[in-house]
Amino acid sequence: MTGSTDVDLSTIMSLCKRRGFLFQSSEIYGGLASTWDYGPLGVELKNKVKRAWWRRFVWERSDMLGLDAAILMHPQVWVASGHVGNFTDPLVDCTNCRHRFRSDHVEADTCPNCGGVGTFTEARDFNLMFETHMGPVQSEENRVHLRPETAQGIFVNFLNVLNSSRRKPPFGIAQAGKAFRNEITTGNFIFRTREFEMMEIEFFVKPGEDEEWHQRWIQDCMNWYTDLGVEPTRLQLREHEGSELAHYAKRTVDIEYKYPWGWGEIQGIANRTDYDLVAHSEASGESLTYFDEQTKERYTPFVIEPSAGVDRAVMTFLVDAYTEELVTSAKGKSEKRVLLKLHPSLAPIKVAVLPLSRNEKLSPLAHEVHEMIRGAGIVDGLVEYDDTQSIGRRYRRQDEIGTPICVTVDFDSLDDRAITIRDRDTMEQIRVPIEGMIEEIRAHFA
Ligand SMILES: [Zn+2]
Repeated sequence: MTGSTDVDLSTIMSLCKRRGFLFQSSEIYGGLASTWDYGPLGVELKNKVKRAWWRRFVWERSDMLGLDAAILMHPQVWVASGHVGNFTDPLVDCTNCRHRFRSDHVEADTCPNCGGVGTFTEARDFNLMFETHMGPVQSEENRVHLRPETAQGIFVNFLNVLNSSRRKPPFGIAQAGKAFRNEITTGNFIFRTREFEMMEIEFFVKPGEDEEWHQRWIQDCMNWYTDLGVEPTRLQLREHEGSELAHYAKRTVDIEYKYPWGWGEIQGIANRTDYDLVAHSEASGESLTYFDEQTKERYTPFVIEPSAGVDRAVMTFLVDAYTEELVTSAKGKSEKRVLLKLHPSLAPIKVAVLPLSRNEKLSPLAHEVHEMIRGAGIVDGLVEYDDTQSIGRRYRRQDEIGTPICVTVDFDSLDDRAITIRDRDTMEQIRVPIEGMIEEIRAHFA
């Protein structure tokens, strides 16, 4: 029937709400615009995305370390980084209806809201950083920003990490955390929001080796998505053109995914040169350089920055996994099956234990099987027990939320102490003795 190629956004949003992946923030008060809360299944998926990223880029490499910096930073950080001066969008106001637009988003001279012609003000720069105040006095001196990226927390800790870990370039620091941008235009569900989460790496290399490392990181990042099951034909690389490059970047390449509304950036991989370390050295008076004992050379490392959006990655995995297919029901009828073909390591519920019915004779053994799987330490995620509704409906529900394995306990199980393991993607069922069940399940997650 249809694969992920032509799912529309409303289908994904409806599934997310119905099954508990994502809810509108503050919904009982009418909601807060472009702000979303991760529900019980959403937080599992999101945490697993972050964990898969950390596993690949920190644990499985020998040249990476982690960091978790505070959201609030010294105000001078954002002056030195260029965010106070440059992190702006040009805005125009309509003097007729008082609506505000990004000047590069309005056609010619006509107001998209009221149709007024020639009613726009001159463009003014609007800074995208959220402001707040530290302490009880709301004065200029107490003003701080919510970080618009996690990168600066890494740069200002460069010496701390270097000295405490005794690393030398090439090495990198990874960090995942919240960031905030007061975007004028938001939308497409969790694709563009004002509060979001990032997974960023700053990889420090010797100048001259930066271009080669940049290219390696582009490939490493691309591989992460495809290794987690994202369809390669729905991914592409896009080179930033001169005028589009950020003020700090020598070269930037985006990884884009073909979303329901078109191609959009999941991740950017930038060569930031020595821009940030030089800027912070000059502003702070601390020399953020590296001295190579062997060559007796002192230099400011260049930085390769793979910067990914967690929420965009979640969105990508959801859209890409969404599948509809026609199956034949037990009664011989053709019916639609919806499934999320999530990679097993990302699935919110790893195993669902489903007694054939709520019959009281089945419950003790089904609970025993549930406890065995949960206690075996083979799955780092939820193991659900569900005995509501018909077995067919429970299979459909687990398919729709991406549960890789269902374990069914039936009346035969009482006699032969065997259970049925059902595979989400193939719907194949195999009969396995309870004694060998854990090994069989383990193989699914290897
Ligand atoms: Zn107007």
